[in-house]
Parts: sequence; structure tokens; C-alpha cells
Amino acid sequence: MQTYPRPITSKLPNVGTTIFTIMSKLAADCNAINLSQGYPDFDCAPELRALFCHYINAGYNQYPPMAGIMGLREAIAEKMHALYGAQYDPEHEVTVTPGATYAIFTAVSAFVSPGDEVILFEPAYDCYGPAVEVNGGRAVYVQMRYPDYSIDWEEVRAAITPKTRMIILNSPNNPTASVFSGEDLRTLATLLRDTDIIIASDEVYEHLVYDGHKHQSVASIPGLAERSFVVNSFGKTYAVTGWKMGYALAPRNLMVEFRKVHQFNAFVSNSPVQYAFADYMKNKDAYLSLAAFYQRKRDFFLRGLDGSRFKPLPSRGTFFQNLAYDAISDERDTDLAIRLTREKGVASIPVSVFYREPPAHKVLRFCFAKSDETLARGAEILRKL
Ligand code: PMP
Ligand code: GLN
Repeated sequence: MQTYPRPITSKLPNVGTTIFTIMSKLAADCNAINLSQGYPDFDCAPELRALFCHYINAGYNQYPPMAGIMGLREAIAEKMHALYGAQYDPEHEVTVTPGATYAIFTAVSAFVSPGDEVILFEPAYDCYGPAVEVNGGRAVYVQMRYPDYSIDWEEVRAAITPKTRMIILNSPNNPTASVFSGEDLRTLATLLRDTDIIIASDEVYEHLVYDGHKHQSVASIPGLAERSFVVNSFGKTYAVTGWKMGYALAPRNLMVEFRKVHQFNAFVSNSPVQYAFADYMKNKDAYLSLAAFYQRKRDFFLRGLDGSRFKPLPSRGTFFQNLAYDAISDERDTDLAIRLTREKGVASIPVSVFYREPPAHKVLRFCFAKSDETLARGAEILRKL
């Protein structure tokens, strides 16, 4: 094939293949236990699969409304009210999207113009920076403080300039497994009081919070809710990451702009699966039981590591357990993650890839959304290192 005649100027010159793709492929090639990419290795609920099949077979296979079917938008709004006391109008303030990544990208595209600054927290989940850059924005990073990955809000105050257009939040946080307190969010609300900064709050792990901690949604914080997109994913909650379905919530004046971008990009989200979720969301226990389910998995994995030279960092939320390995190796985490996959048969994610420059501390991230058998085998190998 002939090539494009002139040199190509990349809009994302520093972007390569994501670490998740790299490590999952390496795990498969090496037949290793895959504790790297964050997805369950067990199947979703049979009732949910049956509902999806039902709606396909019943002919719900054409374009749904642009913002999503009303039954699902109503179910989402009701859930937000029940859990966080938040009022979202399903007609104008709830939009169903093909995943949370898409919703974040759409919110950024709708509001960030060339030259605008967007504050991100480092380590940052991998899709945030590129979404800002491809829209011509500049990512400004505030460091989370190792080892508890807390945020110094005074640093956030110092990072705000007249060009700051948006802040992207993520709690429970991937990759650090930290969670915001109500105090964190109230402090942020105070900081933003006299600004027109918009928030995109990635809350995909809202139900995966442990040890009595409680998920704090920006939707319940006066001063934040009015300026925020709350973004969520059905993939995490219902163990269907491959279905790529999520949603965004925001006050009407913000959502109008979001939908302008959405309607010329995806335009709609998968139809039959929306009907399935609308029915399945009535089963509140399916999401309210998740914290106990995953906390047990986290503890099971940690028990398997008893006596190991790895040092577990706190995992207050998400389905990730970070392990510091200072006592085991001086290697870079990227090298160690590859070597452990190839030589020992366990794949993980090196946390330094979520930083622009590798930090001094050495940490690997392990996903515990796996069967007990997989976790036991993985922990047994790690314990001996
Ligand atoms: N945000 C975070 C923090 C995530 O960890 C993930 C996926 N693991 C996503 C967004 C992506 O969600 P989706 O697959 O619905 O795009
Ligand atoms: N969010 C998942 C993780 O952190 C991966 C999603 C992806 O592969 N983009 O592992």
C-alpha cells in the first residue's frame, strides 16, 4: 500500500500501546496467571446474560434514543438519589454512554479548548492525559503522597490558574486504591468556590470500598455537584467490562454541551443491553453486596501473601492491591513486572507507568477480581519471592 506522502505529525507523540494490553498479552503468551489488567476472570450474573439475550431476541435491535432509553436513565437517577441524595433529571441530566472512558473523553472534548489547563492527580489512570492533550489542553499534575496516596489540597490550590478549565477526579482510585474522604471533597469545594472550573469525577469503583470506608460522590457535595460530571461504568459493577457501557450525570447546562459532542461521535449506545440493565438495576443487592464480595477477595489474596517480603499498601477501594517490593529487588517496576510474568508466571502492572517520571518508590499493582483458585496460585508464587 502507498504511504501518506508527507511526514505525519502525531497529536499524541508520547502515546504507545497501553500497559494493560501489553501485560495481558505477555501473560497470555507466557501462560502466566494474569493479575495485571483490571477485569474479573469470573462470569457475570446468568440473569443479566439472560436479559441481554432476551432483548436481542425480542427485537430491541435498532437505534435507541440519543441519551439512552428512558427506563435506564430513570433507574440511574433513582439510584443516585437513593445512594447520594442527588437529584438528576433523567430527561436532561443523565446520558448513557459506550463506557466510562468514552464519557470522560466526551466531557473533556466538550469543555477543554486549546491552551486550557486540566489538573490531574499523579499517578493518573492512563486515559486522562491523552484525552486532554488530543483536545489541545495541557495536563497539570499534582502528586498524590506515597504511601497512602493522600492529596495535599494546598498543592491543588497552587496549581489552579486562570487557565484551569477542569479537574479530573478518581475515587476510589486506580491505580492507588485510595479513596477520598468527605473532608477531601468539601475542601475542594471551598477551593473552587470562586472559579468556573468543571469537574469530571470518575467513580467507576463506587461500590468497591472497604473496611467501613464509604464512597464519597461529588454528586452529594454542595459546591461540587453543580459543576461536575459524574462518570460511571456498568463494566465494573456487573462484571461485564467487555460490554463497554457506562453513563454520565451532570446538571442540565453542562449536559447540553456533552450531548452535542456525543451525538456526533457514538450518537447512541448499544440498545438491547440498555433494556437489560434497566431491568437488572432493580436488583439492588447485585451492587450493594459488592463491597463485601471484593473485600473478602482482597483479604483472601493478602492471607495468601502472609510471610512474603512484599509489603502490602492500603487497599481501601477498587479491586487492586498494591505491593511494595523494596525488600525483594532493586529492579525498575517495569522490568520486574515483565520478569515475574516470564520467569515466575504471575503478571502485574508496574505503577510507574501512571507517572510521567518513574517515582522513587517501587510498587506493583495486582488485580484481585479473580477466582479464589487463581488468587491462591498467584499469592503462593509471590510469597516465595
Ligand atoms: N476509569 C477507571 C479508573 C478505570 O479503572 C476504568 C477501567 N478499568 C475505566 C475508567 C474504564 O471504564 P469503561 O471500560 O467503562 O470505559
Ligand atoms: N481499567 C483497567 C485496569 O486498570 C483496564 C482497562 C483497559 O484495559 N483500558 O486494569
